[in-house]
Amino acid sequence: MSFKVPRGTQDILPGQSEKWQQIEGVIRELCRVYRYQEIRTPMFESTELFQRGVGDTTDIVQKEMYTFEDRGGRSLTLRPEGTAAVVRSYVEHKMFGQPDQPVKLSYMGPMFRYERQQAGRYRQFVQFGVEAIGSADPAIDAEVMALAMDIYSTMGLKDLKLVINSLGDKETRNAHREALIQHFEPSIGEFCSDCQKRLEKNPLRILDCKVDRDHPLMATAPALTDYLTDFSAEYFTKVKMYLDTLGIPYEVDPNLVRGLDYYNHTAFEIMSTASGFGAITTLCGGGRYNGLVEDIGGPDMPGIGFALSIERLLLALEAEGISLEVSNGLDIFVVAMGDEAKVKAVELLSSFRAKGISAEMDYIDRKMKAQMKAADRNGAKFVIVLGETEIAEAAVNVKEMESGNQEKVAFHNLVNYLLEHK
Ligand code: ATP
Ligand code: MG
Repeated sequence: MSFKVPRGTQDILPGQSEKWQQIEGVIRELCRVYRYQEIRTPMFESTELFQRGVGDTTDIVQKEMYTFEDRGGRSLTLRPEGTAAVVRSYVEHKMFGQPDQPVKLSYMGPMFRYERQQAGRYRQFVQFGVEAIGSADPAIDAEVMALAMDIYSTMGLKDLKLVINSLGDKETRNAHREALIQHFEPSIGEFCSDCQKRLEKNPLRILDCKVDRDHPLMATAPALTDYLTDFSAEYFTKVKMYLDTLGIPYEVDPNLVRGLDYYNHTAFEIMSTASGFGAITTLCGGGRYNGLVEDIGGPDMPGIGFALSIERLLLALEAEGISLEVSNGLDIFVVAMGDEAKVKAVELLSSFRAKGISAEMDYIDRKMKAQMKAADRNGAKFVIVLGETEIAEAAVNVKEMESGNQEKVAFHNLVNYLLEHK
């Protein structure tokens, strides 16, 4: 019998996990300066939350959820995205009552979607996202986009494109919906079965279809931007003005439609334009969701957020040839020969570690030469060899591996010596 990771999942092994930690560090620091506080919600929620929060007509709810019944007969779903749960928590904990709005939250953790596996598409993947709930100021839309862009540029990425669109308000959407139905209805038979269902339920989503994207009617479909109400158009103008103020370049794509049902006004994606990136170029997606808080049982509070996956960020880094430094340096390897020396080694390791000095020793009774090799493989900066003589003298030669220099140091001075020289 041999076991493998489930399809669409991966092990992140040592050597790779350090890169994840580095990215996580950059993200945490940016959240600190932009002031998006971390929220941690459960890995599963009631299925209904996602049906409502993400929307019944979305791919996520229609075909990607890991839904199961628990022993109490409740329908639960492994979270496929973060917004619904964050908004649930905002409502449940009455954060709308806090004096400082918007409440600015961030999250990072695994999401689960039953998807066809391909590069950049996993069944378990890690999303980082933010939500700013409680303000309808276009300046916050720009702030959220700035944070997302900042993450990528801090990681060193250059081949980036921010694409924005306005989905307008309810009035805009209704007028556009009618126009879309008129446009597609006569030829809907030429479209996939999903699109045929979308025509009545949510024709906007036809524009986001991955199967029919090259159908000629796609290019000539009525654009949302032509249906913007005065208010929506003005809102969009302000968002663009703030992006200009921040010096963030963007493109307007009137056909940008986000996958989730709940978006209105601002929608945006960040793409990688790196040549080696492959078919899926979207790194990050976000938008405004006024109305969602109310749908989830709270007061009428507007919100905006984005989500990005660490997996696609790593792909973008690879495509641009940016390699993250993996520093896994070892300060000292203690080679011990004989039982007494081993006890001393255990004691010394403990005193080193107590002062933040990383220290390692042999635990499989290797010969001296093999222990030296292990020290080398581990990239030890210093090595000491403990034998009978060293124990008797209570002192040891500290060898700096790179230079080969040695210095004799008394046991009781070792910690200080290493702190000074490491
Ligand atoms: P797509 O059109 O690529 O399916 P989506 O609309 O489903 O994207 P969102 O739900 O908006 O994506 O998720 C936001 C971000 O999360 C995406 O831009 C992408 O970076 C990442 N993402 C989404 N699904 C996956 C996945 N299965 N594996 C890895 N990353 C993902
Ligand atoms: Mg998707």
